[in-house]
Amino acid sequence: MSFNKTGSNLMTISDFNKKLQQLGSISVDLPFLEAEALLLKAQAVENNDEALAKQLWIAVQIIKTHRDFLEVFRLLRSKKYQDAWFLLERIDIEIIFLKRHFDLSSNAFKIKWISRTVTLLQALFPYRLFISTEMLTLQESCGICKQQVSIRKPCGHRIGEIYGGEMCTREITKMDFIGTVLVETPGNKYSVLFNESDDPKARDEQYATLVLLLSVIKNPYEHWGLRIEQRQIPHSHYPNLKADQLCPCGEGKSYKECCLMESGINYFHYEILLGDKQLKRYQKKSKRKK
Ligand SMILES: [Zn+2]
Ligand SMILES: [Zn+2]
Repeated sequence: MSFNKTGSNLMTISDFNKKLQQLGSISVDLPFLEAEALLLKAQAVENNDEALAKQLWIAVQIIKTHRDFLEVFRLLRSKKYQDAWFLLERIDIEIIFLKRHFDLSSNAFKIKWISRTVTLLQALFPYRLFISTEMLTLQESCGICKQQVSIRKPCGHRIGEIYGGEMCTREITKMDFIGTVLVETPGNKYSVLFNESDDPKARDEQYATLVLLLSVIKNPYEHWGLRIEQRQIPHSHYPNLKADQLCPCGEGKSYKECCLMESGINYFHYEILLGDKQLKRYQKKSKRKK
């Protein structure tokens, strides 16, 4: 991406571009950079420079992605796990919007790296079940021209395209609720089914793998990896477990309907990989069988 036109009294586009190259370091002043980008974009719109306005929309989107990514770590450190989860989902969506106009494969501005790290972070959450709501859209309007639109009556604006520095979306004004289903891999991850404990200690145990990650990485931009393996604990470790008791694997079924039929009790083993050869190991009994 290049910003080769000069602004006037604001930061020049080339200065702005240089600042943008520093993304990926915690020392970048993101709110300042975002404010500058929005001002430059407003100016481009005023000058009817659609191409520059679009480039600046991309820049704002990139800055937002970094801002939200750092915010996820602030939320995790203050033990607001569910808020962090929702923000991860928002980053996912922001990156999908961005992808349409920006090539992720080069890892420019570390966006590809953030995308991958978001997926790893999501895997560390103990959430497995979600409610998926099915809706039928009856009426929607265009976010750019505000007209009511339908397949037969399009307004000419395309969803996801940038017009005057804003992305075109559809606003649903009327819909029918069809029903809800329980799913394991949802289209959106907002309706998570999970009973978060009120007790801080028990909650840390629920999010033990995230707690571990936070204890080993110092800065959100640090590189890390994840290895998850399914392993088994021998049945002999639970000599007093009765067949009709809840299976310790956390699947939610009775022992006899669950791991008793297997060669051991299933759990997930998580390994957080740091640095080159350095390996941090952590073992966690999983909440889920496979
Ligand atoms: Zn429109
Ligand atoms: Zn089991």
